[in-house]
Amino acid sequence: MEIKITPISPEERQSPLEDISNIVFGSQFTNHMFLMEWDQGRGWHDARIEKYHALTLEPSAIIFHYGQEAFEGLKAYCTVGGKYVLFRPEQNFARLNKTARRMCLPELDEQFALKALKQLIEQDIDWIPKAEGTSLYVRPTIIATEPALGLKQSASFLFFIILCPVGPYYSEGFNPVKIIVSEEYTRAAPGGVGEAKTAGNYAASNLAEKEAKESGFTQVLWLDAVERRYVEEVGSMNIFFVINDEIVTPQLTGTILPGITRDSVLQVGKHWGLTMTERKISIDEVIESIENGSLSEIFGSGTAAVVSPVGELHYRGKKYVIKDGKTGPFARRFFDEIVGIQYGKVKDPFQWLEPIL
Ligand SMILES: *Cc1c(COP(=O)(O)O)cnc(C)c1O
Repeated sequence: MEIKITPISPEERQSPLEDISNIVFGSQFTNHMFLMEWDQGRGWHDARIEKYHALTLEPSAIIFHYGQEAFEGLKAYCTVGGKYVLFRPEQNFARLNKTARRMCLPELDEQFALKALKQLIEQDIDWIPKAEGTSLYVRPTIIATEPALGLKQSASFLFFIILCPVGPYYSEGFNPVKIIVSEEYTRAAPGGVGEAKTAGNYAASNLAEKEAKESGFTQVLWLDAVERRYVEEVGSMNIFFVINDEIVTPQLTGTILPGITRDSVLQVGKHWGLTMTERKISIDEVIESIENGSLSEIFGSGTAAVVSPVGELHYRGKKYVIKDGKTGPFARRFFDEIVGIQYGKVKDPFQWLEPIL
């Protein structure tokens, strides 16, 4: 399929901000976006790159009422050598298709979607910020657009990609997060959509996150929905525990989002010869390990912050301080290595960087 490119007019063209150190994440978008539609009988068609603009949809469009959608989040970087790269983008498009299957959305040709993304970024290449720790965030999304309140399979869909510059990860250094274990709410049940990257999971988490914030915590630590016993993930990050010489992350059981950063941490750790274990880990084991001193670190992983140390854990009204509330050596080492690869500062034995141009 051909991609029709209609560049924004010179008068309308916005220049990238000079200083994005204080930019609010996801508030400022680049000049262009990618779009294509899907209709029954025609499949995907009208692939195009044009001026970033608002969408016009019927108020009865399925997405507004039944939340049928899939999204992704990844980043483009300018390396220290001045190359423009994406980090493991094929993984994001593979996961987008996995989510699409679960949400009854039409799948994409992954190679084509990657090509479309590269061509889109090429139009806005000056928007990839160059300062240390900055990047261009990429948000591919598929939505069901048919105007139909009757519950049915949508007959029309839209795929779009938008781009926004993001500021440095930790402008004032790592800021370990305070998390609270939610016993009241759960995020995802077996057989549900916990492993899909879809809007409803976020809508369903809002109240717990809001209450956590009101009580002074940054994020919620989710337990499994059946026994309320096993750790799943934290906010919109996967989670790791350093216990004795083992680095543990909950195994993927269908209710946990299979993070690409999670996979990168696992691969880097194994490459270093560390004991990286994917298994069930109960909140009781976590608390016991903190109390007997065998747990030295907790950290989250995700595209936004890469690695996010946990400084405090609250459970059943008790506060547990992890690593004196500071960043531990494993969190720092994983952060430095993965960020180092993303910016071309350290050797990439995994071939995780995909050139854009
Ligand atoms: C996106 C996401 C993650 C992290 O995935 P990455 O691919 O590492 O960015 C973790 N948990 C949830 C719920 C997510 O939506």
